[in-house]
Amino acid sequence: EASAIVIDGKAVAKTIRDEITIEVSRMKESTGVVPGLAVILVGDRKDSATYVRNKKKACDSVGIKSFEVCLPEDSSEEEVLKSVSGFNSDPSVHGILVQLPLPSHMDEQNILNAVSIEKDVDGFHPLNIGRLAMRGREPLFVPCTPKGCIELLHRYNIGIKGKRAVVIGRSNIVGMPAALLLQREDATVTMIHSRTKNSEEITRQADIIISAVGQPNMVRGNWIKPGAVIIDVGINPVEDTNAPRGYRLVGDICYEEACKVASAITPVPGGVGPMTIAMLLSNTLISAKRIHNFQ
Ligand code: NDP
Repeated sequence: EASAIVIDGKAVAKTIRDEITIEVSRMKESTGVVPGLAVILVGDRKDSATYVRNKKKACDSVGIKSFEVCLPEDSSEEEVLKSVSGFNSDPSVHGILVQLPLPSHMDEQNILNAVSIEKDVDGFHPLNIGRLAMRGREPLFVPCTPKGCIELLHRYNIGIKGKRAVVIGRSNIVGMPAALLLQREDATVTMIHSRTKNSEEITRQADIIISAVGQPNMVRGNWIKPGAVIIDVGINPVEDTNAPRGYRLVGDICYEEACKVASAITPVPGGVGPMTIAMLLSNTLISAKRIHNFQ
């Protein structure tokens, strides 16, 4: 019985972090500049606090300096904007990240638009997305999760050019930029969303599937063309009384079934997840190099 290659995102992310560590120290030695990432956290959501803590740890591990501002839930939008503009003009900060979601009384768009495009390491600024979509234009930053998906394909020498790709999900942070990136790499791309008819049939034509839906095990084995490559972005908790916390995480793709049909697949966890933070570090390094004109 055929069994897919497991695309080891954890191992690739480690390799990338090691490469970044070397570049950070090379940059420091020859210019004296240490790349810096600033994170703004508003409110006390536990999951957001965990993400911010992990980002700080990741920065420490590669020698990137991290800056953190934690504002109370009831802060005003002006206070957040003040932190953003402080980091915009701080020369030791090369990347700025506003942890989402923001409290509901704030205008998320207004705050994200205030981040200097030169420091938009999340790549969510409309100007960056616009350039990503245009031929012959280069975005300053590519959003981290989709960038991580493509990087996995590259590192496993999986060709993209001329392939049929299907992206399931069209969110601004994952699905849409993932489709744009695949198209830039000369795949023929179809996007599937909640209003799509015949998702199953369309998906079955794909040589490459990137799924970012948020529905546990939605894509079954019979949706997959034999030999297809699958990148599963979904992170979905499902009840599991045997697991220590009472739940475990699964992807959008039914992994057991997919393994028998696909030629390669990312596991959840340990696939795309670790790549997202690695790409954030990579974007911060790219930014510092660009600002200081260091190659
Ligand atoms: P969103 O909820 O913003 O987007 C989900 C997308 O899936 C929407 O475009 C929606 O369509 C589409 N969709 C929903 N149901 C269906 C369906 N039945 N068939 C086809 N399409 C459907 O989610 P995100 O993009 O933010 O995240 C997606 C998943 O990826 C989540 O599980 C999230 O946890 C995970 N994630 C993982 C990251 C990582 O680092 N690995 C980073 C970010 C997210 P429509 O537009 O019509 O509503």
